[in-house]
Amino acid sequence: MDDSVKYGFGPHPIPGSHVFALTPLSMGFVNLKPVVPGHVLVSPLRNVKRFADLTAAEVADLWLLAQRIGATVERHYGAASLTLAIQDGPFAGQTVPHVHIHILPRKAGDFPKNDEVYDAIDRESVQYKAAAAAQPAGEKLDLDKERRVRSHDDMAAEAAELRALLQ
Ligand code: AMP
Repeated sequence: MDDSVKYGFGPHPIPGSHVFALTPLSMGFVNLKPVVPGHVLVSPLRNVKRFADLTAAEVADLWLLAQRIGATVERHYGAASLTLAIQDGPFAGQTVPHVHIHILPRKAGDFPKNDEVYDAIDRESVQYKAAAAAQPAGEKLDLDKERRVRSHDDMAAEAAELRALLQ
């Protein structure tokens, strides 16, 4: 998939090169700021905010894709478990108003206390929200400036690896 095709993730355009799985109703794409290696996201193609807004067909398609992707990233990143999480609404920590399942490959001892993974997902969201809030009114967040850790090309390379594995 090339960058001439863009997919919507809330207000953010996701370049085709960052999408590694597509079904009729859902997409899997790499994360701008992964909390652990292989932390990826799965969303419905339709731009809907809340889990309750999804149709039954979208719920089924989304979770079936998450199941496939979870198995693939767990193996690919040498993990032995998975965290699958949805922050459903702003008071649950959702920063991008488009339903998404976080999939994180988990390894023994990756967090000192197991449930700190949720703090890590939330901390990353809080930083992202602070950066967005610091933008002058009407200006869009400059994702290249915010990216800090991952370049567009790093993300595209990870997506290409996962796409090949999922075929
Ligand atoms: P949440 O805080 O649950 O809404 O999660 C938002 C997730 O989206 C975080 O894991 C971010 O790193 C990720 N994210 C935000 N913008 C992008 C983007 N443009 N491309 C890929 N991932 C993104």
